[in-house]
Amino acid sequence: MSIPNRTIDLRSDTITKPTKAMMEVMWDAPVGDDVFGDDPTVNALQTKAAAMFGMEEALFCPSGTMTNQLAIRVHTQPGSDVICDKHSHIYLYEGGGIMLNSLSSVKLLDGDRGRITASQVGEAISPENDVHATRTRLVSLENTMNKGGGAYYDIDDIGAIRQVCQEKGIPLHLDGARLFNALVETGETPEQYGQLFDSISICLSKGLGCPVGSLLIGPKQMISEAKRFRKVMGGGWRQAGFLAAAGIYALDHHVHRLKEDHQRAKEIGTLFAQRAEVEDILPVDTNIVIVRVNHGISEKDYVAKLAELGIQAVTFGKHLVRFVTHLDFTDDHLEEMRKRLSTMS
Ligand SMILES: *Cc1c(COP(=O)(O)O)cnc(C)c1O
Repeated sequence: MSIPNRTIDLRSDTITKPTKAMMEVMWDAPVGDDVFGDDPTVNALQTKAAAMFGMEEALFCPSGTMTNQLAIRVHTQPGSDVICDKHSHIYLYEGGGIMLNSLSSVKLLDGDRGRITASQVGEAISPENDVHATRTRLVSLENTMNKGGGAYYDIDDIGAIRQVCQEKGIPLHLDGARLFNALVETGETPEQYGQLFDSISICLSKGLGCPVGSLLIGPKQMISEAKRFRKVMGGGWRQAGFLAAAGIYALDHHVHRLKEDHQRAKEIGTLFAQRAEVEDILPVDTNIVIVRVNHGISEKDYVAKLAELGIQAVTFGKHLVRFVTHLDFTDDHLEEMRKRLSTMS
């Protein structure tokens, strides 16, 4: 495949288009009305996801924002607080949903590239029966951590957080939009995660390459509550089986290949590390590369300069630029990117 003059789009792993094989299963999917619980393909996807994680049930939703927000809504009550890292997606990128949907506040922790610790969590939990304080009703982790450059947790550290939560009777939620990126690196299994969390959100529309879709996975009672709120939010959908078929296909065929995305991300890191205008690169652990440009250059100007070469990235904070590798970024694209970068002054 050659890609002369074509844009190399590394803005996000959400930009992928369904493969031909994925389109074929979507086309052929048996469907029904999911609000009536009649869509066999949606039901099959939900059953499959719940079984993978060894949890009772799953709920197919249009976005990861919705699955996270439903979990927060179910676990909290008005006046609660949610403990999370200060760079969490649930706090930074979900439109203030914790406040808007759940009338709850946050306790923001300063993690290591977004990874918080059991002792930080323990200290942040509100004292019992203190009328001055919000009531801590949820701890939420993100794995891999987007704003932390795709960093992933050591599972023992999650186990320690789990223990603190259990002692206080506080549920633990996982924003696992990119959990599979962590799993292919560590060799851990979805079941191990199912045992550690009270609810898990995974995205099918990121590295797994689906056009749409996320799943909220958890106990039966919790998922049935989430289903009510999904309807309230306008998320009850009908012949969603066409989309669920893509999800089943992705879980079967697009998980192991994530390793390739990680390898290419590392190579992109190496390419930028050699450039004079680059100050440093965050460690490249999975499929996200965060480049810090020198103080004299603004992140906006750098993104614009790359765009002139047909390389698309996003700004990611002061002097920071983010690249994300994905299913539609091949070795040919990488080679082409190398060539184009070598012409940049
Ligand atoms: C993408 C993402 C989500 C969900 O985003 P949607 O665009 O609403 O599907 C949630 N958490 C993290 C960490 C993400 O990267």
